This record gives sequence, structure tokens and C-alpha cells, in this order.
Amino acid sequence: MVMTRVLFRNAKVWDATGAESFPGDVLVEGGRIKTIAHTLNQLSGDGATVVDCNGMTLLPGLVEGHAHISFGGAVKDSDLGLIPPEEHLLLTMRNAKTLLDHGFTSAYSAATSKLRLDIVIRNEINAGRLPGPRLRAGSPEITVTGGLGDERQQHMYHESFGMIADGVEEITKAVRLCCREGADNIKINISGDDLSPAAHGGLTVMSEEEVRTAVSVARDFGKKINCHARAANSVKRAVKCGVDVIYHCESADEEALDMLESAKDRIFVGPAIGIIYGTLYEGEPWGFTHEMAVKFGMQRILDDSRAVYTELRKRGVRALIGGDYGFAQTPQGTNARDLKHFVDLLGYSPSEALQCGTRLGGQVMGLGDELGMIKEGFIADILLVNGDPLKDLDMMVHEENLVVIMKDGELYKDQSKSVSVQKKAA
Ligand SMILES: [Zn+2]
Repeated sequence: MVMTRVLFRNAKVWDATGAESFPGDVLVEGGRIKTIAHTLNQLSGDGATVVDCNGMTLLPGLVEGHAHISFGGAVKDSDLGLIPPEEHLLLTMRNAKTLLDHGFTSAYSAATSKLRLDIVIRNEINAGRLPGPRLRAGSPEITVTGGLGDERQQHMYHESFGMIADGVEEITKAVRLCCREGADNIKINISGDDLSPAAHGGLTVMSEEEVRTAVSVARDFGKKINCHARAANSVKRAVKCGVDVIYHCESADEEALDMLESAKDRIFVGPAIGIIYGTLYEGEPWGFTHEMAVKFGMQRILDDSRAVYTELRKRGVRALIGGDYGFAQTPQGTNARDLKHFVDLLGYSPSEALQCGTRLGGQVMGLGDELGMIKEGFIADILLVNGDPLKDLDMMVHEENLVVIMKDGELYKDQSKSVSVQKKAA
């Protein structure tokens, strides 16, 4: 086996510890970061592909913390149920490549919209047959009758992205089925949603017994478990029953905040703010006027999210980027917009937002001691970008600024020889 060696020379290294960037050279060998030199031109480039970084910023590959790689272009939740399996697989395959093309070298799935979509794409990526991020495959959203993802009507069946299960027995079977088929992350919908007809976001519709069952079966199979939780009671139920990743949380009250804080070494939260912003301000072409979005609670969710995530940030609760990209108003490939949303809408500093999208992402992938940082011994998932993300996070959204994309020590994209470097900051 040929051991790929790549030497990044003269980079501005942002290592995701939270420290300032520093000038350095980085040597990659055998898929790992082998050496980081703080003095330039000390490392030998013998036998290595040398990438001249010209002072551009080198940082860890991004981790999408709320991935729905099987979602694409949906206007309504119910649209996802209408896609035939064959087209849906191809869509998921294209989305996986789109994510990697946009600097996401890892993705933690928040849910798939058909049971085996994430799983087969993950297997193809791992086998080297398809380009895409390192993926933790999601289950469909396991939901109770009347919950988010149950689109059925009494007189007519409707397919959706949900997997409906009621009571301990059905929940047990649904989670076991997802585990048997190969999901890495199980998803349960504890609360409703504001755009969902029967159960709005303030309701907690999955019983404590059902949540506890789902967590316990997921644990039996060694899987992680995520939930959809908007209402304060849903958040409390999730923490109490041992859920790993708790999405949304914007209605958390003082007691829920205390519970999240007390579990901060174990859990992650994710505001999924991109879809809220997109629906409020960019939904018009798909029929969501700003007035409609406000009526459906999007402004309230945005305001509550700012207050809750300001508090969670102060308390050291780990938050993930990922804003339900894959709907019409949140196209796949624009996922890195969440970085700037974290700053503009939730009050994070640019460095904190980038850490949510890199180091904390490595942790939620279950690889906290080897993924998500520029650190010796870590997996070489590396971006070289033309511009300074700490001064302008929006630059991360644009594919043309991603000069090098490296995954697992392999150069997936390298335009370092053709790029004209932006005027360096003095
Ligand atoms: Zn989602």
C-alpha cells in the first residue's frame, strides 16, 4: 500500500482549540496529521505532495451536526414521502457529494427519510465507491400517531419521512428494525412541530415510557439517539431518559436549562436555526411569505433560540451547527451558513461557531480524540480556504473559496496551484 504523504507549507493554522491562528507547516501521512511545525520550512517534503498554502487558512473539515442527506428541495414535510425510492437514492447520493464539495468531511445524521437511504450511502462512501462525508447514518424519525411525521388521514394512507410507532412494544420493534438495518443514530420525535397539523411544537406527545424504551433499545445495540424536542417538557424528558443529542430546545425553561447543564458532559444540543431563518426571510419563492412564517411561530422560535442558546453557551453546553438543510429554502450545499447564523442570530463568536462546526462535531461523531482538530495524531480531514473565516464566516459557504478539501489524508480537491490568493491581512 502506498502511504500518501502531503506537506502543507506556509499555512495559517486554525486548530479548533479556540486559540488564535498561527503560521505553520502541517505534514500528513497515512491518513493522519503526523507533524505540526510552528516554524516554517522545517519539515522535509521528501516523497510528499507539497501544497504551497501561501498564508491561506488551514482548518479542520466541517462536521454537519444535523444532517438530512436524503432531504432535497422539499417545500412541505409531506413532499419527502412522495419521492419514489429509486429517485430518492440518487438524490441522497448527489447530496452526499454536494456536502463534501462544500467542505463537510463528516456528517452526523439527524434522520433519514426512508429507512435504508443513509445506510447504503454510508456503506458506499466507506467502500470508496462514492464521494461523500464520513457519515453516521440516521434512522427515520420514529414518531407516535399524530406526531411530527405522521401525515396519514383517517380515510387515506400517506407516506412520509416518519416511522410511526406507539407504545413500548412498537417502539421497541421500530428501534430494533433500524438497528438491524444498520443505522448509527436513532431519531425520535418527542415534541410536535409548529408546521405539523395535529401536534404543535409546544406539545410533548411521545410518552416518557416510549422515550425511555427507545433509548434503552438504542443502547442495547450500541447506537446513539437523537430527538426532536421544542417544548420545555420534551427537553426535560429527553435529558431524564438519556437521549444523546437534543435538537431545537428553544422553549427550554429554567428547569430544562439546569437539566441540560447538569448533563453537559454527555449531551449535545442543536438549534437547527438555518430553517427558521430561511422560512422567515427566504421562503417567498416557495409560498412562505414573511407574514405566514411569523404566524407559524418562526419569529418566536428565532427570538427564543437566541435567549436559550445564549444561556446554554454561558453554561458550557455543547451546540452543533446544522439547520435542517435539504428543504427548498435551505438547499443542500449551503449548510455552512449556519456558522454565520450562530454569530448573527445566536450571539456566538466566530471562533466559537467554528468550534461547534469542527471540534464539537468530531465529538458527536464519537471520535472526539481523533477528529475535528488540527492536532498531531488526528484524522487528516483538512480544509485550506482562501480568506479568513474568523473575519468573514460567510466565505465558508462558497465552494470557490475552498481551495483544498482533504478527507482521511487524501486530497479530494486541490486547487492550490491555480488559486489567486486574496490580499493577505497585514
Ligand atoms: Zn431535522
